[in-house]
Amino acid sequence: MKKLVPDHIRNLVPYQSARRIKSYGNIWLNANESPFVNRIHNLYKNLNRYPECQPKELLKKYAQYAGINNKNILLTRGADEGIELLIRTFCTPKKDVIMLFPPTYDMYEVSAKIFGIKIIKINTLFNFQLDIHTIKKNMYGVKIIYICHPNNPTGNLIFRNDLITLLNFVQPSVLIVIDEAYIEFSVNDSFINELKVYPNLVILRTLSKAFGLAGIRCGFLLSNSYIIKLIQKVITPYPIAIPISDIAIKALCLKNIHDMKNNVKNILSSKLWLVEYLKNIFFIKKIFSSYTNFILIKCHSSVKIFQYLEKNGIIVRNQSHKVNLKNCLRISIGTQDECQQLVSVLSSYEEKNN
Ligand SMILES: *Cc1c(COP(=O)(O)O)cnc(C)c1O
Repeated sequence: MKKLVPDHIRNLVPYQSARRIKSYGNIWLNANESPFVNRIHNLYKNLNRYPECQPKELLKKYAQYAGINNKNILLTRGADEGIELLIRTFCTPKKDVIMLFPPTYDMYEVSAKIFGIKIIKINTLFNFQLDIHTIKKNMYGVKIIYICHPNNPTGNLIFRNDLITLLNFVQPSVLIVIDEAYIEFSVNDSFINELKVYPNLVILRTLSKAFGLAGIRCGFLLSNSYIIKLIQKVITPYPIAIPISDIAIKALCLKNIHDMKNNVKNILSSKLWLVEYLKNIFFIKKIFSSYTNFILIKCHSSVKIFQYLEKNGIIVRNQSHKVNLKNCLRISIGTQDECQQLVSVLSSYEEKNN
């Protein structure tokens, strides 16, 4: 059976999604989900029929929300499918290269590996900003550049000037993909207005984070209509199931957008509260500034804190294995109550170890 598997799949380390890592607890702060349950009612009808490939009503709703035209949107099964579709549409295996800036979201690398696409990594600088100088010198063969903004798992924004420099520098035949999965937590920093200026710009969005709908798998790829049309040749015939578009359409009505914005405000104020508290904990060496619904902290020993939290039912994400993130933990902001419980468990650790 060994012959069945190509080398690049045999050697592949699959993405370690939060759900794949076995964890025991009742407070889930490890996947940057929303802690708020979305109360959308829905009726299923006409399920005997295939759905539209790109449900028009959903396109219209997202276009209204984002302030762009329908023809600049592709609906996908989560932003993750967008990441993969770009590779499948635009990259030739063993020839083209994708460029990444670690530490960043893992799926860019995993998707590229699955399709046998070469990868060049340019680590970010000490402040998690782009190393523009080194990037410019390494563009040979690069077809797609993935930039996460705000970045996961570090939580920072990429300097707007650097992104503009890059957009102006690269050839139009190189795609610049800005992953805005967390942009609702930092609305004014979107690059959506640049879509009109740069035909090779692609923006990824999702309902999984601020909208609290990680369970339905609904994402959006925004770009010029030429790129959208090309990807439509590659996407599966029916990516969005009818119940999914039903729910997503409801999530994008004005009342639910208003609720989402309230939840964002809540999460941001819980984050401020949590950060103020964490500043006084001796074993936390650094709290990185965050423009998202999670924070990255550096401790003396991330493993010890991780295990202590888990023993107390709180699940966070250890990032220590990533480049430049030794002893760092990523903590999603939960409800106010969950933040309070996190704080009391951390205090008890501090008392025991003081
Ligand atoms: C969560 C996340 C995604 C995945 O979004 P889905 O729509 O759930 O597939 C993509 N990019 C980043 C940076 C993320 O954190």
